[in-house]
Amino acid sequence: MGEMLNVEELFGSKVFTVEKMKERLPKTVFKEVKKVMECGGELTKESADVVAKAMKDWAIENGATHYTHWFQPLTGITAEKQDAFVTHPDEEGRMLMEFSGKELIKGETDASSFPSGGLRATFEARGYTVWDITSPVFLKEDATGVVLCIPTAFCSFTGEALDKKTPLLRSMEAVSTQALRILRLFGNTDAKRVIASVGPEQEYFIVDREKYLKRPDLIFAGRTLFGAPAPKGQEMDDHYFGAIRERIGSYMKDINIELWKLGVTAKTQHNEVAPAQHELAPIYETANIAVDHNQLIMEIMKKVAGRHGLTCLLHEKPFAGVNGSGKHDNWSLSTDTGMNLLDPGNTPNENIQFLLVLACIMKAVDTHADLLRQSAADVGNDHRLGADEAPPAIISIFLGDQLDDVVKQLVETGCADHSIQGEKLLTGVSTLTDIEKDATDRNRTSPFAFTGNKFEFRSVGSSDSIASPNTTLNAIVAEAFCEAADELEKADNLEMAIHDMIKRYMTEHQRIIFNGDGYSQGWVDEAARRGLPNIKSMIDASSALTTEKSVALFEKFGIYSRTELQSREEITYEIYSKSINIEALTMIDMVRKLYLPAVMSYTGELAKSIKALNEIGMDSSVQTKVLSNISAELAKANAALEALEAAVAKAKLIKNGKDKAYAFKDEVKVAMDNLRKPVDALETMVDNKAWPVPTYADLLFEV
Ligand code: ADP
Ligand code: MG
Repeated sequence: MGEMLNVEELFGSKVFTVEKMKERLPKTVFKEVKKVMECGGELTKESADVVAKAMKDWAIENGATHYTHWFQPLTGITAEKQDAFVTHPDEEGRMLMEFSGKELIKGETDASSFPSGGLRATFEARGYTVWDITSPVFLKEDATGVVLCIPTAFCSFTGEALDKKTPLLRSMEAVSTQALRILRLFGNTDAKRVIASVGPEQEYFIVDREKYLKRPDLIFAGRTLFGAPAPKGQEMDDHYFGAIRERIGSYMKDINIELWKLGVTAKTQHNEVAPAQHELAPIYETANIAVDHNQLIMEIMKKVAGRHGLTCLLHEKPFAGVNGSGKHDNWSLSTDTGMNLLDPGNTPNENIQFLLVLACIMKAVDTHADLLRQSAADVGNDHRLGADEAPPAIISIFLGDQLDDVVKQLVETGCADHSIQGEKLLTGVSTLTDIEKDATDRNRTSPFAFTGNKFEFRSVGSSDSIASPNTTLNAIVAEAFCEAADELEKADNLEMAIHDMIKRYMTEHQRIIFNGDGYSQGWVDEAARRGLPNIKSMIDASSALTTEKSVALFEKFGIYSRTELQSREEITYEIYSKSINIEALTMIDMVRKLYLPAVMSYTGELAKSIKALNEIGMDSSVQTKVLSNISAELAKANAALEALEAAVAKAKLIKNGKDKAYAFKDEVKVAMDNLRKPVDALETMVDNKAWPVPTYADLLFEV
């Protein structure tokens, strides 16, 4: 306890940082690397060799034996294949550890077992991993030893993206190019790039590992498929921001240390709304690095939990009846010279550039609400979106009082002559400083909220990669900027044209603004009247990928080809069917092998005691009543079990991916819900000691 942590020294100690490159590379090579990092292009073969050697020397000094091209296939998690630095021994049998520029830059894998949505037949299984020079190389240390990890993009033999990073990088270039066109209209000539920045807030649950290991549903599905509610949930609001318990605190401390070593700026930690739920947020950074780092955060959270006898659950809905977990994706655009395009300043009504950017974002989100919804869709998130604890499945924008007022002025009169200002916060206590309030309050129910100088996309699921949401955001905003620039670059009177455009865009897309309660039925009805899409499930969202509108958008900026989009749509159906199938099989297994035997042996005991009581002429009416109630539920459970088995067998026979996914959603899932009900009822009826798995009370309140 209390040992000094030198965070400054720790930070980035396992990263081959720019600073380390500067120290270890010849000046000319370092300059070349910096140039490629900032402006794109390729390293010469000679320079790549020099960089690889410096990297390898540093890695070996730090205990590394292997390197890996670390990539992000469409499974949503990361993948790696490790190679040792070893080479052929020389004539004397000596072995030199080597690593060439070629090995650094390009890897080749037989990747036929990754989802490709039909993009690659297994006989053309070649996949390539290509170094993403803009995301830092790092060392991963675990039981395997120390491994040098090189963040890479993953493409097929024919150049199609098989991963989440490639389209993201493409989208970042698109939004940069198009945003620069807007900036140039305002006379900005010094910015060379516009950078999409992202700060994801990661929510998670922590449970005791021993108990976790007794729950097949947590092991196989990442969420509880059964479980009667505990007597207490989150209704007392006593967990949110509560004092962090010691066991969790020491876990959080270890996560922070591991993340800091990896150069991840773990910053904020707190207890979340549900019991056993917590959050970690890093400081925002360039989108592709933030995506890589979020993968590391999720990985480290899981790994470190084991050391503390804990298990980290990243599923969007591990427990029914209490809040699920999301990942608020904070997003903004700023220039390489440090100007945030989403910063309205104190008087947004006078900030024409900001208003144009805002108008373009309104247009983008309104035009592509379906795509944005799709980008946050995953199997677990179906339990959250629209379920009164997470943003609704309807995409809308929250602007807050100040901007909302400016937009209203512009739409109504064509000119905005004032901005509502934040007032002093009067606490009524003379010893408390009267602080300046924000001009705008928060709205927790909005899926896409303006929060000062960034948008917060709140629909993203906790277990999901944040690559797709940010790819989509960048792409749709790039398109709006592009269309605006096409028109404005031709305008005779630029000032007038900009003014007219802001008013026009805001008027045409005003329906996407909603500042009220997103959880209310009133909003569902209102959104329907406004014609906003309300896409309820993951697979209902999938077809948004391949509409003509979507293909035109993504092909225009070279982010996804039509084929890539089709394959991605196909993969969503595959992933969905497989996930629900696993859940269903787990339920069947648990009922057959755990719950039914437990209940049957309990009813057997009851029957015996009834018989014994009857034999000595004692009253057995209570026992008989309990037994008959339990037997009735048991029969229901057994019937529901058989119905679920039949539904799975039927869904499995379907060949077409989309039809199959719908069978899993409309039939298997329904049968799963029908099975859960009697089993949860049984849990409340039998002796605690007879119940074969830890309960919600055990899992949520005894960490
Ligand atoms: P809030 O409390 O409003 O959600 P925080 O300050 O806690 O905001 O930030 C939440 C996340 O947003 C953090 O990861 C933070 O680094 C990130 N963030 C802050 N400013 C920006 C910005 N301009 N662009 C992107 N992310 C940002
Ligand atoms: Mg937030």
